[in-house]
Amino acid sequence: MDISKYKLDTVMRYSIALCIAVLICSFSFHFVESFFYDLKFRLNPFSHKNELIKIITVDLKTVEALKGQPTFYEYNQFLETIRDYNPAAFYFTIDLKNIPGTPEDKTAFAENFSKIKNSFVFLDDAPNKGEEESMLSVGADFRDLKYTAAALSYDYKHFAEDAVARRAVLNLGDLKFAQVQIAQLFNGISDLNEYRGVFELLGTKQINVNYQKPGTYEAISFSDLMSGKVNKAELENKIVLVGLNVFTDSKDYFKTVYSRETFSMPRVEAQANIIASLINNNGIIKSNRFINYLMTLLFVIIVTFSVFKMSPFRGIVLITGSVLAYAFMAQLIFSIFGYSLGMAQPIIATFTCYYFFIPYRLIQEDRKLWQLTQKNKLLTQVEELKNNFLSMMSHDLKTPLARIQGMADIALAKPQTLSEEQTNAITTIKKSSEELTEFITNILDLSRVESQQIKLNLQPKDINLVLDEVISKYEYLAQQKNIEILKEFEPLFSVKVDTELMRQIFSNLIENAIKYSPENTKILVTTEEMEGLVVVQVADQGIGITETEIKNIFTKFYRTKKVKNSQIKGSGLGLYLAKYFIELHKGRINVESIPQQGSTFTVEIPMNQ
Ligand code: ADP
Repeated sequence: MDISKYKLDTVMRYSIALCIAVLICSFSFHFVESFFYDLKFRLNPFSHKNELIKIITVDLKTVEALKGQPTFYEYNQFLETIRDYNPAAFYFTIDLKNIPGTPEDKTAFAENFSKIKNSFVFLDDAPNKGEEESMLSVGADFRDLKYTAAALSYDYKHFAEDAVARRAVLNLGDLKFAQVQIAQLFNGISDLNEYRGVFELLGTKQINVNYQKPGTYEAISFSDLMSGKVNKAELENKIVLVGLNVFTDSKDYFKTVYSRETFSMPRVEAQANIIASLINNNGIIKSNRFINYLMTLLFVIIVTFSVFKMSPFRGIVLITGSVLAYAFMAQLIFSIFGYSLGMAQPIIATFTCYYFFIPYRLIQEDRKLWQLTQKNKLLTQVEELKNNFLSMMSHDLKTPLARIQGMADIALAKPQTLSEEQTNAITTIKKSSEELTEFITNILDLSRVESQQIKLNLQPKDINLVLDEVISKYEYLAQQKNIEILKEFEPLFSVKVDTELMRQIFSNLIENAIKYSPENTKILVTTEEMEGLVVVQVADQGIGITETEIKNIFTKFYRTKKVKNSQIKGSGLGLYLAKYFIELHKGRINVESIPQQGSTFTVEIPMNQ
């Protein structure tokens, strides 16, 4: 592939990835995002409970003890008791309209209430402009009661739209809700904009509440308090909230990020969480759009890179690893800093991009495979042609060579008719043609080996006899260098072998021993039987082979450096073929060598073929 096409391809892939990122970022995926948002709360190991806040609930135990829910008469007694506990602030979150009682009890309630410092009755509904008077009024009987709006909100038409409590509304126009007023008493923050993570929604200021697991604010039972079971220290100088927990009305409860159960968290505990988030000023900040876009872009780049530049397995590992690392980092940042990184867009973009690019990559791979198959076919054809050519050439060369040798033999048969010069010339012709014949035989063997045409012609044979034959063939060559070939043969049983191949193997080893040894040295050929093997060793006192080269000598056409630079002729095929032939007999060949001292080749042939 030329460079410009490659570049174009890359630019196109990343452009597609960018388009996917932009497309994904134009959707909010609130439902998926809320899943990850809630998960971060559940996996958060740290608690942000505010120890100042205490809640008292009218619970099932209270209902059982009083044989019904408390009336104003009982609440009056309760208020008198509470006053003795001297809380820093006191908030009543039960709807007054639902409490039975006489007009006198109601007036007494308002009076008792005013005697407790920093006390307010919470009203759930927030009035609109102009409605304040009528809505905040709780009836003539409570004229002096201090009450204020303390709206609670949940995601009904926003974000996940699943009615889970996540946010808190802080104001309605100029009216600051009760929770903010309380927080201000403790942290002095009067400007709503100073609250961490404050944002605008429907013309109000809101925060994302740092909700704690339901039950974090352990409730004291109304009846326990009334029967004097609660220590004074427990409520003194605390912010005390009173609410209902009788499991009769789903409106008294909220679904939370921890659980979607109807009775997941009593409203009074939700109020406690809102107040705690405001006092601690640790509302959750959601990452802004810009960061989400950036992360989405980063992920599509990772996916594009791993799909096209890596093996499928590594790609999957990189993508999964990045997503997990991001999730882990997001959780860490949330747990430590209360900052919620957007997850939905990066993760959805990752999947979309991956499933978009995988078929693209498959098509590409398929095309490459097809090209490779074509190339392979062509190579096989070329290989076949080469082999045919080699064997044809070699066969055709062998005949004229045999004729040359024959003629040389005839001429040499009558030496008296030739001058000394002529005899030498014809002897050289004979030697050269013999070398050429050997070379051609090697080439022919190689093409037979490579086209796997060699079939073993196994016959029982005494290896000692084969060696005798080969040694006598090379005796003359050895004599010329005054090399003595010594034999130490153990009597052997016949082994089923291909005699011709055995002859070739040992010819090569003995010829090499002579070729690569200096004059006046010795060659020792030994045979023995050992553990079901016939072991033949050919040891010389020759030039030897270096440690680095020894592992290569059985490779085809390999010749050691020293030999290549010398006059000694050879094709580098002999040992390659010998090893191949030995392995055809399920045997092994090894060599040990010390440079300048000599080499020992060991051949092991199993007795049972
Ligand atoms: P060649 O035709 O070159 O002898 P071989 O395959 O028979 O090819 O041997 C490969 C190489 O191994 C030789 O070129 C030589 O470098 C080395 N070699 C083989 N036998 C010996 C030996 N007895 N002593 C030293 N070197 C040897």
